[in-house]
Amino acid sequence: MSSQKGNISRSRGQKHQNSTAFKNDKHGASLQVKKANSKIHDGLCQHCKGVLEWKVKYNKYKPLTQPRKCVKCSQKTVKDAYHIVCKPCSLQLDICCKCGKKEDIIIPINSHSDNREEEELTKKGRRQRKKDVDDLDCDDEDFFAGLEDEEEEDVDSDKEK
Ligand SMILES: [Zn+2]
Ligand SMILES: [Zn+2]
Repeated sequence: MSSQKGNISRSRGQKHQNSTAFKNDKHGASLQVKKANSKIHDGLCQHCKGVLEWKVKYNKYKPLTQPRKCVKCSQKTVKDAYHIVCKPCSLQLDICCKCGKKEDIIIPINSHSDNREEEELTKKGRRQRKKDVDDLDCDDEDFFAGLEDEEEEDVDSDKEK
């Protein structure tokens, strides 16, 4: 995992061992956390599934507010955060949605439940955009963090409008 970088090798055990496992919904989960917790990481290889589960567990999972562009079909069909390949392409090419490699998919994609999710995401994206205009001068950290995340993909989406 990425934690390898700058990892100072230590052979001793962890000094402060938590007696209970870390839980991200300990202090009353927000809607976003609840949604992330119930997320099914389908279409992913073992490694990527593990990475996303880790993100969810430690509240680092940021859901997408609008679809991203798929690296295979170049359509805005990627509806899951951190994925680079859309589910139809993943199914067709038998590759992982996140790393794009030909790996064993742990949870097969259920294409039926996908449409509903897409609809929800589109609605949410529209709402979010309107809200952004309304509170343009607010300094909502989440909002700006989200912007940074989306910046790359947004360059050409602006032209399409
Ligand atoms: Zn695709
Ligand atoms: Zn993968």
